[in-house]
Order: sequence, then C-alpha cells, then structure tokens
Amino acid sequence: MLKLKALPADEIAPITLSVIVPLYNETEVLPVLHRRLTAVLDALPDRCEIVYVDDGSADDSHQLAQRLPRSSSDHLCLSLSRNFGKEAAMSAGLAYARGQAVILLDADLQDPPELIPEMLAKWRAGYDVVNMQRRRRLGESWFKRTSAAAYYRILNWLSDMPIPENVGDFRLLSRQVVDQLNALPERSRYMKGLFAWPGFRQVTLQFDRDPREAGQTKWNYPKLVGLAMDGITAFSIKPLRLATWTGLTIAISAFLYGAWVVAKTLIWGEPVAGYPSLMVAVLALGGVQLLAMGLLGEYLGRVYIETKGRPNYLVEEVVELPRSVLHRAKEVQQ
Ligand code: UDP
Ligand code: MG
Repeated sequence: MLKLKALPADEIAPITLSVIVPLYNETEVLPVLHRRLTAVLDALPDRCEIVYVDDGSADDSHQLAQRLPRSSSDHLCLSLSRNFGKEAAMSAGLAYARGQAVILLDADLQDPPELIPEMLAKWRAGYDVVNMQRRRRLGESWFKRTSAAAYYRILNWLSDMPIPENVGDFRLLSRQVVDQLNALPERSRYMKGLFAWPGFRQVTLQFDRDPREAGQTKWNYPKLVGLAMDGITAFSIKPLRLATWTGLTIAISAFLYGAWVVAKTLIWGEPVAGYPSLMVAVLALGGVQLLAMGLLGEYLGRVYIETKGRPNYLVEEVVELPRSVLHRAKEVQQ
C-alpha cells in the first residue's frame, strides 16, 4: 500500500485490455451488462478499461454510464453529439481506447462478456484479430437468417478479400491493427470489411449468440439495406463492371437482332404486329438502364461524401473515471 502512494496511477500498470461498448438507448440492459462485464474483468490479473460510447441516446444511457459502480477497470465515458450510428460509435471508441488489445462488445448482451478471457488467450498466443463467429443465431427470425446468409454469399463473391460470414462486430483487435484502422482516411466505415482488411494473424472462434437481453433492436430493414450497400460499395467495384457486361451483352444482342429484323423485312416484308416484343424490349432495357444508373449513383454519392471530408462523429464529452484505489492496491501486491 505504501508503494502505491509513490507511484502515479498510470505507471503502475499499462492498460492491457480495452472493451468498447457502443450505447444507443440502452438503459434497460446497461446495469446488467456492467455487472457481468466487470465480474469478468475483475477476475483478470490485467489492468483493463471499459469505453462506453453513448451514440446520442434519447434516454439517459450517458448519465447512467457515469453512475455505474466503479470497478477494477478504468471507465471512459464518451458521448457523441448526436446519433451517428453504431459504426461511428465504434470508430470513436477505437480512437480513444488505450489498451494493448481492444474488444468490441454490444451492450445488449448478445455477445457474452464471459468469452473475453478466451479471446485474450488467443491474443497472447500471438493473434492480432480474434473473430467471433456465431454458431447459431438465437432469437432471430427465419427471414433475417436466410437474408443474412444470402448477403454474405453475394458480398464475398463481389469483394476481392474474404469477409468472414456470421462474424459480427464482436471481436478482439491488437494495438497494431487498431492503429492501422484509426489511420485509415476513409469515411465510409463498413466495419466488418475494415476489420478483415488489414489482414495480420487472424483466428476465428465459434460462439452461440444469445437473444437480446432487454430493450429493442435499433436495426430495421431499410437501415440494414443501407449497411449492406455500404459493405458492397466499400469493398468492390465489381457491380459497376457487371453493369458494363450486362450493357455490352444487351447491346450486342440488340445489334444482331436488329440486323436480323432488317434483313427479314427486306426479304419477306413485314406484316406489322410486334407490339408485345417491342414493349418487352423497351421495358427490359429501361429497367436495366435505371438499375445501372442507380448503381452509378450509389458509388457517386459515396465519392461525394468522401470528398467533403466531414468527420464520422463529433465527441461532445469525455468523462474519465479511474478505477478505485482499493482495486489499484491489488495490482501493486502482485
Ligand atoms: N447502437 C449504436 N448506435 C446505433 C444503433 C445501435 O451505438 O445507432 C449500438 C447498440 O446500443 C448496441 C449495438 O449497437 O450496443 C448493437 O445494436 P442492436 O442490438 O440494436 O443491433 P442488432 O444486435 O439487432 O444487430
Ligand atoms: Mg443486438
């Protein structure tokens, strides 16, 4: 205990692990999450840090995060100036986390904090990224599961780099990877892809994803479609090439067909009719053109947003709550 007084707090032990928890209207689950998370972290011999990022909640998640019981971990409570979305909240967490290893955890306890020691063990074994893959998706509808599976298949077919299927944001990243991600200049942050992008030594562990503990999911299908488009456009330009190929195929077929129609008319004459085929051709071509234009628009829109260079999020407040002295003593004794 005497030794403790002589040492400034931060020199006692460097932060080994940061756990980032994005919060958006999570007052219902936050106390339960905090209890389970601190129970796991308290049992670890390492110095840990919890980074709560309040993503502009409409309820008092932010105030609640600051009032949670203190633990052996440092608590860092960030609050963004408005709701910027989970991807932005995670980026903010990554920018502020100080640990040598960083874990991203959902607040709703769908990602069990009890798996943290296992993830840390993999990191100690030399892995830079520990992906957590869902074995089963409990509490999710048949439609969500099948659409998710189809989406991963399409995404992986389109993207040049494998993006692991059924791996959410729950994962561990080494300091090296976090620094690389923080240094990326792009604003469109499709995290699932970005986490796979740096490469390094990756390992995947399996786990059963529980249903949400309490509260409501913040996702709806339009939001998910937006995220899905982000994923595809951020990691592939193949759809544009596909549009080119479709256009080329249609143009060549139209040319051949046109030549045939002209020749046929010249030789045998034309007894009119042809309304249905004309209609089908016009509608089909119109449809393909609009689709290709929409696709161009998706890419162009993202280029536009990137050129504006606005930050992904604005941090309104940072509150640092150091671990309690009682807990610090534990470290000195070791
Ligand atoms: N979240 C966030 N900002 C948002 C939406 C969600 O920070 O705009 C957080 C939310 O508080 C939770 C995590 O992201 O910690 C996952 O959200 P949710 O459980 O609603 O997503 P799902 O598990 O249904 O995909
Ligand atoms: Mg959830």
